[in-house]
Formats: sequence, structure tokens, C-alpha cells
Amino acid sequence: MKDCLVFDRMKAGGSGMEFQWDWVCSALGNNESAQLQQLMGLINGLNVTFGPDKWHWKYEGSGIFNVASIKKILGLVNRTRPARVFEWNNWVPKKVGIVACRAEMERLPTKCALSARNIRVHNRSCVMCGIYDETCEHIFVSCQYAQSIWQNIANWCTIPPIIAFDIKDLLTLHEISSGPSRKKKVLYAVIFVTFWSIWKTRNEIVFEQKVPNMTKTLDEVKAMAYLWVKNWSKLATLTWEDCSRFKVGG
Ligand SMILES: [Zn+2]
Repeated sequence: MKDCLVFDRMKAGGSGMEFQWDWVCSALGNNESAQLQQLMGLINGLNVTFGPDKWHWKYEGSGIFNVASIKKILGLVNRTRPARVFEWNNWVPKKVGIVACRAEMERLPTKCALSARNIRVHNRSCVMCGIYDETCEHIFVSCQYAQSIWQNIANWCTIPPIIAFDIKDLLTLHEISSGPSRKKKVLYAVIFVTFWSIWKTRNEIVFEQKVPNMTKTLDEVKAMAYLWVKNWSKLATLTWEDCSRFKVGG
């Protein structure tokens, strides 16, 4: 029978699971024989058990995938990235670029940074999620708040979902994205503005007791990126309409 599952052809035998093919015709043609061989190659060595299938991450004893695990593997294979000089983007104001630059160097006055300099902080947890210690890496990369922001930004910029393990990954995103160089530069500007806006939101929560508001942060990124890129890039034809759909020509 076509479309049957491997499991449908397995029966418990004297020495564990055995195949019981139930062929409709007695002789297999060349194609069928080759396909059967391929199938046997695929399932050879599999430990077939009763019960539902499940995903198993083979690099962890627990079988559960996590980001720390893949980071460890990438570290083991000597994945090296060339030393990079921080690249400025003159389509946004200096104060905006400075946030991304300091974040990359872990030089923003986060709670962990202050506490490392013996400045007393009430508690070290992130004000966005309240769970993890507040470091630059956390605020801009691993915090759930930041991750949602980046996915929204990816949608807006019509680029694939953003997968970042650290701040450098975010700051090199535009280099590997497709499209003309002008579009890359706009994307880089948007990334800068996003850093700036996340840090601004964080400061408003810490110093003005505001509550995190994702929609507000995203609206601010889009509005400010449009304003600055339009004024500084001489993209005279850029309209808010184009920008709201991220249509940036070459
Ligand atoms: Zn957080």
C-alpha cells in the first residue's frame, strides 16, 4: 500500500521489531528495489519503539534543544569571526549610533555594569522581563522583549526572521542581507534606531516608572528611522508610504 508509515510495516517479533512488508506483488522492479534500499539506509540503526515520535537534540543528554547548547557546539568547532571595526552609519544622529557602539562593548550603564563597579543597585534584574540579570547582551539579544521587537522589525523590513546569538550578530545582519547597498545601509540604520529605542524604553521604565509598551517602541523605531533616513540620506523620493512597507529602492 502506498503512503503507509514505516511503523505500519513493523511487527514485534522474537528478536525485537521486525519488518513485515505485505507486498501486493511478489517481485519488485528496479525502481522499487532501489527505493527500498534507500529506505533501509535511512532507518538502519534507528531504535524503533512503540509510542509517539518526538524530536531529540542529540548534543544534550536531556535531548532538549537550547540556545546555550548550540553556542557551545559552535565554540568547539572554532567558529571565528574576523575582528571587526565598529562601522558607523551617517544616516542616523551620532547619539543613536553611540548606543549600539557602547552595547557592543558592554559599556552601557546596565544594572550589572553598575554593580560590577561597586555601585549599589536595588536589584539586578531586567526591567523588561523581570527574570534575568540586566546586561547589554540580555537587553538587546536574549530578552523576550527584545526578541519580539527584532521579529517585528524583520517583518517590517521584509527580511527573514532574525536569529542572533549576540550583539555582533545584530550589527552584521545588514551585511548578509540581500539587495542593493543602499537597502543594506537603510537596514543598518534601522538596526541602530532599534538599539537606541530599546535603550530609551529601558531608561523610561527605570527613571520615569513607565511600563514596557512594545507597540510604542516599534512605532518609535519606524517613525524615527523614517525621519532620520529621509533627512540624512538624501533619499528625496522616500515617502512614509514606501517606508511603512519598507520599499527602499537601489
Ligand atoms: Zn529581560
